[in-house]
Parts: sequence; structure tokens; C-alpha cells
Amino acid sequence: MGTLDGKVALVTGAGGGIGRATAIVLGQCGAKVLVSDISTRRGEETAAMVRAAGAEAEFFKADVSRGSDVEALVAAAVRKWGRLDCAHNNAGISGTIASIVEDTEENWDRTLAVDLKGVWLCMKYEILQMLKQGGGSIVNTASTAGLLGAVRMGAYTAAKHGVVGITRTAALEFARSNIRVNAVCPGVVGTPVILQWFEANERLEKSMLAQEPVGRVGKPEEIGNAVAWLFSDAASFVTGAAIPVDGGLTAQ
Ligand code: NAD
Repeated sequence: MGTLDGKVALVTGAGGGIGRATAIVLGQCGAKVLVSDISTRRGEETAAMVRAAGAEAEFFKADVSRGSDVEALVAAAVRKWGRLDCAHNNAGISGTIASIVEDTEENWDRTLAVDLKGVWLCMKYEILQMLKQGGGSIVNTASTAGLLGAVRMGAYTAAKHGVVGITRTAALEFARSNIRVNAVCPGVVGTPVILQWFEANERLEKSMLAQEPVGRVGKPEEIGNAVAWLFSDAASFVTGAAIPVDGGLTAQ
């Protein structure tokens, strides 16, 4: 018996890293998973991995910064499986690494469009469906940069603080509607992108590892496990929380 048996779940940004790992964990917990990403190739790969883990899964392409794509994504889950119980709004980009004075309007606009507007758009259409069916659970991926300042990542930091804020607002607005809304705030996670940065830059690896009290980076599935717990009935009294999953980074 899985903790999410019979539930229908959706994961955005599931073509890699944290989203892919979460999609697999949710499938292992018994959920049917609609895998979504802007990349068809990577998203289809993830859907195949979830099926290989023994769960039902399909891929649906969506750019979370476009309202029409997100509306179609939620409709696809309902068309396929009749409802949407769990939604992990995880798609995100780090944007250009630049100080406040070096940053560009283009980077600011794109980072905020994907990382913050994308989360709002996803919640809008997911909650409209969850209201129709009488409840549901949402987990947004913020970051420790949603709780603390991150140097040379101003747009990302603003977007992730925004994700924490809108998570709290949504939790309060729908607390009486049986819809729980939470955020996970990952620390440094060893996704393929981060591991490539480390390979290219040993100093960056050392400085990022030095930030982590546990002395290692997180595994993508360690974020997925927290998301699966938040979706489960074991977390039935948890809403409006922004939970660090960060090896102690924000405890310092
Ligand atoms: P990743 O780059 O491995 O995965 C992100 C996925 O999102 C990719 O598959 C990408 O194709 C997809 N994507 C990008 N733009 C999109 C769009 N407009 N619409 C739909 N999909 C889109 O990154 P990751 O490290 O797994 O990051 C996942 C989330 O976790 C992000 O929100 C990121 O900010 C957050 N996060 C990551 C870390 C970390 O250390 N890796 C730490 C804190 C927070």
C-alpha cells in the first residue's frame, strides 16, 4: 500500500533534477503522474522512468509562463484520470548570475515569468479544479533563496521569496476548502545541472559545500520524499508552510 494510492498527481519541470525525482517518488507511492516540462524529449524520458517504476504516467508539454499552456495541462490530467489531487509546481530557472547593478530587464522579466508567474498560473488552474472536486494538495518549489538573500541572484531571490508569499496567501484563501498549499525550500541539490557546474568549477563546489552543515549536497529524491509526505494524509494539518529541505543551511 502506497501513501498516495489512487491519487492523481502533476509535476511541472519534471524533465530533470528535482521534478524528475519527485515524479518517480510519487509513482512509487502509488500516484498516477502527469509529467510536464517545456522539453518534450526530457519529459517523455521521465514519464518512461515513472512507468518503469510501476506507475501510470503520461507526458504533457507546457510552458508554465503561458496561461493557455497551464490551463491545457490541468485539463489534460482531468481528461485522462478524472481529477487532480496533488500538484507539484516545480518548474524553475536560475536566470543569469549577475549583481543587482549588472542584471538586465530581459533576465528579470524571464526569471520572474517562469519562477513566480508560473507558480501563480499553475495554482490558479489547479485550485479551480480542486474546488470542483472538493479538495487537493499543492506543493510549490521555492528555495533557500526564498528565505535568505542569494548573492548575484537577485531576480531568482525575488521570485522565490514571492513563491513563499503566494504559497501562504493561497493556503489562507483555501484553508476552508480542503486544499492544502505548502512550499519546499531546497538547499544545494546535486541535480545534473549543479553537478556540471561543480565539474567545471572546483572553487564553486567547495564554496557551495561549505554552506551545507551536513557537508554534502542533497539528492533530488530527498526533495521528492518531502513533497510526497506533504501530499500524504500524514501531513493533513500542514498548510501554508515553507519547509527547508536543506541539510541545515538555513539553521545557521
Ligand atoms: P533542472 O534545470 O534540472 O530542472 C528544471 C526543469 O524545468 C527542466 O527540465 C526545464 O526544462 C524545466 N523548465 C524550465 N523552464 C520551464 C518552463 N517555462 N515551463 C516548464 N518547464 C520549464 O533544475 P532543478 O535543480 O531540478 O530545479 C527544479 C526546481 O528546484 C526549480 O524551481 C529550482 O529553482 C528549484 N531549486 C533547485 C535547487 C538546486 O540546488 N538544484 C535548489 C533550490 C531550488
